[in-house]
Amino acid sequence: MIKQNKVLILGMARSGIAIAKLLTNYQNEIFLSDIQEQDKILIEELGKLGIKIVITKEQENLVNSSFDYIIKNPAIRKDHPALKKARNLQIPIINEMEACFPLLPKDITIIGITGSNGKTTTTTIIYELLKKKYKVHVGGNIGTPLATLVPLIKKKDIVVLEISDHQLVDMYHFKTNISVITNLSQVHLDFHGSYEKYKEAKKRICNNHLEEDIVILNKDNQEVLDLIKNVSSKKLYFSKKEKADVYLENNQIFYQNEKIIDCNAIKIKGMHNYENCMVGILLAKMFKVSNKEINEFLSKFQGVEHRLEFVRTLKGRKFYNDSKSTNNESTIIALNSFKEPTLLLMGGLDRNIPFDEINNSLMHVKYILCYGETKEKIKEFALKNNKEVVVLSTLKEAIKKAYELSCEGDIILLSPACASWDQYPDFEKRGEEFKNIVNQLI
Ligand code: ADP
Repeated sequence: MIKQNKVLILGMARSGIAIAKLLTNYQNEIFLSDIQEQDKILIEELGKLGIKIVITKEQENLVNSSFDYIIKNPAIRKDHPALKKARNLQIPIINEMEACFPLLPKDITIIGITGSNGKTTTTTIIYELLKKKYKVHVGGNIGTPLATLVPLIKKKDIVVLEISDHQLVDMYHFKTNISVITNLSQVHLDFHGSYEKYKEAKKRICNNHLEEDIVILNKDNQEVLDLIKNVSSKKLYFSKKEKADVYLENNQIFYQNEKIIDCNAIKIKGMHNYENCMVGILLAKMFKVSNKEINEFLSKFQGVEHRLEFVRTLKGRKFYNDSKSTNNESTIIALNSFKEPTLLLMGGLDRNIPFDEINNSLMHVKYILCYGETKEKIKEFALKNNKEVVVLSTLKEAIKKAYELSCEGDIILLSPACASWDQYPDFEKRGEEFKNIVNQLI
């Protein structure tokens, strides 16, 4: 436990601020540092708690042997000069979740969800289903830092945590009771240096597991199975191809051979989402949530905001917001979730990545409406695929044009395949604008 220690926290994002505040309750001397100027009111508030704020671009100059711990933001790379210096001085480097772990009551159930895709959706489904019967807290990478939850967590509670690979690399004693790995694919390689290192990070979700702990795995993903082969945890499986603890057969989901739900009754669409639902169902059944409650929830759950989120039906057209799609892979997944004629809104920051990967998912796309920095590249991509394309400047214009060109029964889908930063501060703002405009259409 970090108590009566001198701690340097690198990064004043949500988790840095939350852990700084929490650790002041344990007589620690806290230095909280960032490279960017911060809000004055926030600095004042933290100052009143005795937290010392240091804004500097040269954080390595802050590191010296008087510190007992460095707590780093998950986005900071291992080769950051401040971390190199700390390692030379043999100062332990951990992150916010690891720092919280010893402060949690012992008899709680921690469910940790990781994977390349589907973490947030799966975490949300698990939380929503379990909260029907238990006191459940949700946090981690999904939004609320664990440090904010710590004072609220009591004996016997369930804590559902989304944990990213960036977090797992700096976690050592932290241990879940139940872990989920949704899937593995080649992402974040720049951060880890290689796919092998990325996979090793993911494996840490089973750190310190004993035989009584559980890991839930995707039976269809051989790489996950190979990776987890030698961990001690009890293994449970989900599959959309073959029998498993929970599986998909004839468009229905079964738990140990008992039919739980017909996929037509599930509101969120796409095979990837059925996988996310299967994990939720597996946990719900393990925790004795009734089939009726599972069905009620899954028939209403519209998905997590900005992830293939259903917005509204207007004059027979269905609008979906998939603003979280910032790469080809997500847009392919979104397109494969529909069979209906689709008007696809694409565009955003130009990272010089070709769109050709999407070629085979365009069968039902009747128009591509493109905007933003990548609009000319998307136009070329559309023409190459013999698709009708309209080039516009903004998302707003693209929505209006799509509505104009659409007919009853069509899907109007924002799945941009590009980051939002050419025109928006983040994908959330882009998705919010999409929804606002769509909701004003008449
Ligand atoms: P994460 O938190 O891992 O980024 P999200 O639940 O936020 O995942 O979903 C982000 C995007 O990832 C979705 O819009 C969809 O394109 C894709 N996705 C979601 N679930 C899965 C899954 N089980 N398998 C593959 N891709 C998925």
